Amino acid sequence: MAQSIESYYMEFLRCARCSHDFEYENPLYRPITLPICGHTMCRQCIDIIRNQTKCPQDQVSFGINHIPIDQLPTNYPLLIVLYDPSKLPKGGDKRYGQCPFYMKFDENTKLTFKAVESLLGKISLAIKPIINDKQWQSIFSDSMTRKIFSLLNSQYIDRASRLKVVEAIRSLGEHMCIDFILCCQNSEQLTDNLRSVIGVQHGQFLEPAMQEIVLQSIVSFLKDHSALSNKHLVHSVVLQVGVNDPNVIQPSVNRIVNLLSGASCFQVQRNGDSLSMKLKSEFQNYETLRRFYISSEQWSSLLYGDTKHELSMQSIIDKLSTPDSFSQAIQRFTNALKSARYASDTISYLEPCFKILSKFGVPNNVEQHLSNNNQQDDSNWVTITQQLGCADIVLRYLIDFKHHLHH
Ligand SMILES: [Zn+2]
Ligand SMILES: [Zn+2]
Repeated sequence: MAQSIESYYMEFLRCARCSHDFEYENPLYRPITLPICGHTMCRQCIDIIRNQTKCPQDQVSFGINHIPIDQLPTNYPLLIVLYDPSKLPKGGDKRYGQCPFYMKFDENTKLTFKAVESLLGKISLAIKPIINDKQWQSIFSDSMTRKIFSLLNSQYIDRASRLKVVEAIRSLGEHMCIDFILCCQNSEQLTDNLRSVIGVQHGQFLEPAMQEIVLQSIVSFLKDHSALSNKHLVHSVVLQVGVNDPNVIQPSVNRIVNLLSGASCFQVQRNGDSLSMKLKSEFQNYETLRRFYISSEQWSSLLYGDTKHELSMQSIIDKLSTPDSFSQAIQRFTNALKSARYASDTISYLEPCFKILSKFGVPNNVEQHLSNNNQQDDSNWVTITQQLGCADIVLRYLIDFKHHLHH
């Protein structure tokens, strides 16, 4: 029997095509994850679509891997979220005996495949107590939950999929690093300050995509112009964004400028009656400006008045992450924990984990890796096991850290 799971999380534990909950007892409803895109479907649906070349959910082609999808292995880490692991078969050959790809592996590769599977299973076990406890659930934001589940929805039997997995681990790693930083901030105070600076009710704001354009315009404008009055800046940005009706966008641009100045990114100078402002040198590039280490939940409640837009705010933040942003976050992590006087052995334990996590799966490199056939890339089994091991350690520390904060 499957263990009971809060309904919110069942969204991640049912077939992407027919929405049937995954099951172990009935082989037709065992989960199978597609290569590359990571959609997970029940065996029944996989059998139905097996002659297609693209995932019906997102049209991502899985034909390129030359793997007949009805021969892919069952996703046991996902089943561990649903079942007591002692009720599931143990050992690679028992679990994957029906999977020709697994059976074709040499003994060494079978062992590493199993190692990756059991590390993912450890992550499943780490999150189980949280997703089944109403009091605990809030320690993870929706975007954190999604990142964890997208990692659990991983296929790793082929090289191209493994590159995607390493990318997913890195993204989760960066997210956890920033989560540590946010834990060390007094978040209520931060939100209050920013709200009072905006000085408006929590009205509807620009759609996130537009907001990103506005922010980018502000930064690029301030790079070229040393000091501007608040009014001049707003006016110039409105023109630069170039929407049909400037009146629509002006109040919102105003709010972003106010938000930025309240977050003390600007140096304000008084020239007689007028104020002029320029960006402080440490904020003179887009990446640092965007990464205030305000959580996506806080951005959402600041800009929309509620946390319902947390996921779309997070997707903006994700888009803005650069190859360097993770290492910058690690630096901030170390400083934040030091000043919060958190045990220094924790820092010296976690910092190297974060460094390993940031080293592989850099988003822009994945396409490159896929296009060249060099075997020395991030898809090798050693990299992926090392990455997963680090992610598991960090995740457990983060849960523990948040648990302490709550009590
Ligand atoms: Zn299905
Ligand atoms: Zn898909």
